[in-house]
Amino acid sequence: MVDPQSAAQLASWLAPGRILFLLIHLLGVVCFSYIVAKRLVPLIRGERDFRFDRPWVRLGRVLKFWLGQWKQPRYRVAGTVHIFIFAGFIVLALRAFTTLIVGVSENFVMPGLSGRAGAIYDIVTDYAATIVFLCMVIAVFRRLVLKPARYAVPARYGKGHGADAIFLLGLIALLMVADSLFAATRAASQAQAGQTGEVLAALSLPWMLQKAIASMSLPTLGSLYFGAYLVHELTFYFLLCYRPFGIQFHVETSLFNIYFAKLDREILKPVRWGVSDEHLDQVKSFGVKTFEDFTWKHMLDFYSCADCGRCSDNCPANAVGRPLSPRFVSVKARDHAFRHYPVFGRAKNSAALVGSKESGAIYSEDEIWSCTTCGACEEECPLLVEYIDKIVDLRRGLVDEGKVPQSLQKPLKALESRGNPYGKMEKKKADWANAKGFQQTCDVKTLGQSKGAETLYFVDSITSYDDRMQAIARAAAKILKHVGENFGILGAAERDSGHEVRRFGEETLFMALRDHNVDAIRASGVRRIVTADPHAYNALKHDYDDQELPPVEHISQVIAREVKSGKIKFKPLENEGSVYTYHDPCYLGRHNQIYDDPRDVLDAIPGLKRVEMSRSRDRSFCCGGGGLMLFYEPKEDQRMGVKRVQMAAEAGANVIVTACPFCMANMEDAIKVAGMEGRMTAIDLAELVDQQIAHEGLKVA
Ligand code: SF4
Ligand code: SF4
Repeated sequence: MVDPQSAAQLASWLAPGRILFLLIHLLGVVCFSYIVAKRLVPLIRGERDFRFDRPWVRLGRVLKFWLGQWKQPRYRVAGTVHIFIFAGFIVLALRAFTTLIVGVSENFVMPGLSGRAGAIYDIVTDYAATIVFLCMVIAVFRRLVLKPARYAVPARYGKGHGADAIFLLGLIALLMVADSLFAATRAASQAQAGQTGEVLAALSLPWMLQKAIASMSLPTLGSLYFGAYLVHELTFYFLLCYRPFGIQFHVETSLFNIYFAKLDREILKPVRWGVSDEHLDQVKSFGVKTFEDFTWKHMLDFYSCADCGRCSDNCPANAVGRPLSPRFVSVKARDHAFRHYPVFGRAKNSAALVGSKESGAIYSEDEIWSCTTCGACEEECPLLVEYIDKIVDLRRGLVDEGKVPQSLQKPLKALESRGNPYGKMEKKKADWANAKGFQQTCDVKTLGQSKGAETLYFVDSITSYDDRMQAIARAAAKILKHVGENFGILGAAERDSGHEVRRFGEETLFMALRDHNVDAIRASGVRRIVTADPHAYNALKHDYDDQELPPVEHISQVIAREVKSGKIKFKPLENEGSVYTYHDPCYLGRHNQIYDDPRDVLDAIPGLKRVEMSRSRDRSFCCGGGGLMLFYEPKEDQRMGVKRVQMAAEAGANVIVTACPFCMANMEDAIKVAGMEGRMTAIDLAELVDQQIAHEGLKVA
């Protein structure tokens, strides 16, 4: 608390600068407003994006992800440092505004912060300034000395922004020192004048500075007081105006980015917001080709990326050396936006975003095709930056221009003509159910004509046609029969779910596949759908969302329920030397949050030893991509599947259980490539359950 006499004395020290401070305020506010207005120009020119629904849900997410810093602790050290910085900023906000106003209205006290409340607030903010200052020192030390790998910038992604980050950290540290010195000189001068003045928090930065300057003369303290104020003001406004030029812009944009973040993450963005499927033929250009084709929210994402590298640290494509690092998808787009929409000067027309560097493009085609849409980047980002929609939109743009990788052209043509990527005959779709020995024990009916059923088992292409994966279909069918489901399949009437086709940017082909399946499902009259393929599950549940289909379940959910109900009982596992680990398929785990059901099932098998891999549940490591990724060979140093089986071995497992036919294909292939045959095996959850069910008389063919 400052008594009136000392307040008058202190005010007299600032008084000569009043006009100067007023000018700094005005100039700072005008410059900041101008810069932000210029930064908004591309957003205004960007595509529409519908993000104004469910305001209460959005506010709740702001409280959780912005104010609560929910995702920060996923990286313990950096996360804790960030939480302290953020909390310090929030606490210091009122002090900063009070200090700004004091320069032009010397005796100003923030309403509610006079008397005891003010004294307590001063103590808290003394510590807050100290903590923020220390965090800046730690952050600079981490960047300069410890150099975490995720901050590194590989040469192919251009120039890093590390120097910029350190410069900004230094400026924040300077701001804290100036703020603390301002408080310290005030307290020291009051003490020298023998007045009852401000009590600084013991051992805080202002307290230490006060001790250091305590013996200075009053005129010197007055000069220091004035100088500290001036440095504080200049640093404050410089930071405010400089941040929109680099990675620290997220300080301003993050709140809005989180408020407008996608609520239904599993639903893919439509080709154009506000244009229904029926009117898509009127859309002149599909996807993103130039920067202005991005939606305003996707541009806001670019501004909001803090360049922390967490997305890329978890990206499997980046981990195996594919030419894709999500962090740089954002960083390059932001640099591109800053170049084409400069603060000083006129906006330039944007060139094509994907192509050669010489043409001015910022992304290579390989980069855009390298993504498996696994969602690890989005799961990790503390600022809820989105990637899958952007990458799919960029692919839509490439497909629209006929730039489809050679290896994908054949499966896409086959999907168009035969409804599956293998080009196999429709009438062979149900061959798995006619396998010798299987049909006698489990008769699978094909729906249509006179045959009806309560439940549809949607098989999808890989499980129907791939010789190895057909065993999963048979196991799933036997489980459904065991629990008494009245089920059937669509057989030749079933087309590929189109899940991967859609994610490869072929929206029109996806729509044709979807419409065919929807008609067939409706005609079958079933009341529910079950599938053993997470990709089909995701397509039926979310991509077919507006088609009013019966509810869909993954087979692991059915099994977990029936284990609980007692319909499924397990015999003890005989191979006691086996150690199992569960690999979360991306489209079951991260995209649909089904983590516990498969684990509950495994834990219900007597004698089964299970270990967790270091990367599991929402940090699961993609096996290499489902669907059309099986047909696409990106440039990479190592296969994702190989990395994954190595993780299983490191966890001490020798059996990998998964619940996805694509994961099975990749795992079995990876075991061979890694030379781990005989030491590691892979099995689908449905196969394991079928083996372990205490059956009455059923045996897999
Ligand atoms: S997108 Fe998110 S996780 Fe990735 S670098 Fe930017 S802020 Fe970090
Ligand atoms: S979705 Fe997966 S593969 Fe694609 S950028 Fe994100 S983490 Fe990488």
